[in-house]
Amino acid sequence: MFGVVGVVDASNFVALGLHALQHRGQEAGGIVSHDAVAGFNSARRFGYVRDNFTKASLMETLPGPLAIGHVRYSTAGSKGAAIRDVQPFFGEFSMGGAAIAHNGNITNANSLRRELIERGSIFQSGSDSECIIHLMARSLQRNIPERMEDALRRVEGAFSIVAMTRTKLIGVRDPLGVRPLVLGKIGDGWALSSETCALDIIGAEYVREIKPGEMVVITEKGIESHYPFRLQESRFCIFEHVYFSRPDSIIGGQSVYETRRQIGVELARENPVDADLVCPVPDSGTPAAIGFAHESGIPFGMGIVRNQYMGRTFIEPTEQIRNMGVRLKLNVNRALIKGKRVILVDDSVVRGTTSRKIKQMILDAGAAEVHFRIASPPTAWPCFYGVDTPQRDKLLAATMSEDEMCEHLSVDSLKFISLDGLYRAVGEAKGRNNSCPQYCDACFSGEYPVAPSDMIQKGFEVKAAE
Ligand code: AMP
Repeated sequence: MFGVVGVVDASNFVALGLHALQHRGQEAGGIVSHDAVAGFNSARRFGYVRDNFTKASLMETLPGPLAIGHVRYSTAGSKGAAIRDVQPFFGEFSMGGAAIAHNGNITNANSLRRELIERGSIFQSGSDSECIIHLMARSLQRNIPERMEDALRRVEGAFSIVAMTRTKLIGVRDPLGVRPLVLGKIGDGWALSSETCALDIIGAEYVREIKPGEMVVITEKGIESHYPFRLQESRFCIFEHVYFSRPDSIIGGQSVYETRRQIGVELARENPVDADLVCPVPDSGTPAAIGFAHESGIPFGMGIVRNQYMGRTFIEPTEQIRNMGVRLKLNVNRALIKGKRVILVDDSVVRGTTSRKIKQMILDAGAAEVHFRIASPPTAWPCFYGVDTPQRDKLLAATMSEDEMCEHLSVDSLKFISLDGLYRAVGEAKGRNNSCPQYCDACFSGEYPVAPSDMIQKGFEVKAAE
C-alpha cells in the first residue's frame, strides 16, 4: 500500500511506490486520487503496476494532490480474477467519500459480513476488507476518521490501512502492529508506505514507523496522531523479516538484508555440515546463504540462476501455475555444481514443492550431495493475518518430522533454524519467551495472538495451550 498527500499529481508517486512494493502482490493493482475539480477518480487493473500505471492515458484520469494505491495478493475473497476484489475500496458518505486500502487479514470478517448483510449492507466484493467501509457507513460519528476508528474497533486480526478522504491521508496499524506501515516526507507533502523501499524510489525521506495501534491523520497542514484501541504488546510478523519484506527495507530500525544475513549465520552455527559450496535458492534465500557461507567458511556460489523476468512463483494462486513456475524461474549453473557437495539455503519450506524440484535439478546437474538448510523454522501452521499459506494439511511440516521431511525430499540432510535462533538473528539476544519483544510467529509455533474466529467456526483446531 502506498499513499501521498501534498504533491502535484500524487497518483504518479503512488504508481512508483506500488512498483517498488510489487513483491507484496502481483495479481492486480489499484489507485484512487482526489482533485478539487475532478473529485474522486479510481482505476483498477489486473497485472503488474509497470504494465498499467505507466500509461499517460490512464494516469491523466487520476489527477490531484492526494492519492492512495494497493497491490493485490489474494489471501481472502476470490482467488484469481475478480476486478471487484481489487482495492482501494471506495464509499460515499454524507460527509464525503473515502477510499481504503488494507494489508492483512480480518479474522472475524465472515461473522461481520453476515451481520452487515442482515442489516441491509450491499457488498460489492468478496474481500474481507470491504467490511470496514460498511461498518463506517453505519457509524454515528461525525467525521470520517472517527467513523473509521469506530469501524476498526469491531475488526479482529491484522490490519495496516492507508485511506483517504477529500483532504486527508489516513494511516492505521492494528493494536498488535502485525503488518508494517511507515511514514515518509516528500517536499511539502507526506507519504505512507508498507515498506521503506518504496519511499526510496520517490526520493522521500523516511520519518518513522506508524506505531502499533496508532492512527495518523495527515493533511497538507500537518499530522495528528490518535490511539483508538486498547494498548497491547506489539506482535510484528516475524515472517516479514524472513521472506515477505524486501531486503533493502528497514524494519524497526534494522536492515532486512542484515537480519537475513544474520539468520544465515545462526543457521550455520546451529546446523553445520561438511560441504564444498553454499548455494542460495534465489532471490529470497540469498542473504541467508551469504551469512551461512561467511560463518561456515565454505565458498558461496550462484549454483542456481534466476530468470529475472518471472515473478515470485508461490504468489500465483493456482497449483498448476505454481508447478510450472519453478522451472520457468530457476535454472542450474551446471559448471559450478558438478561433482560438488552442495548446501542449498532457502528461506522456507511450505508445501515442499520447490525444494523437491530444486533438489532434482541439482542432482541432474551432477552434484555429489545435496544438503538443505532453511532460514526459518518448519512452517507447521497457516497464517490468518495476511500471508497466503495453504491449509494445514498441505504444509509439509504439519504432518512430518524433520527426519521424515528429509526422507520425503530424498536429500542428504535437511535442517531448519530453531525459533530461538531466529529470535537471536532478529536482534532478540535472549531468544523467545525471555522477556524480549515477541513477534507473531504463529506459522512456526501455532500460537495465534488473535484467535482466528472465522476459521475456528469452520472447524480449524488451534493448538492446545502447553
Ligand atoms: P513450497 O514449494 O510450497 O515449499 O514453497 C516454498 C517457497 O515459496 C520458498 O522458497 C519461499 O521462498 C516461497 N514462499 C514461502 N512462503 C511464501 C508466501 N506466503 N508467499 C509467496 N512465496 C512464499
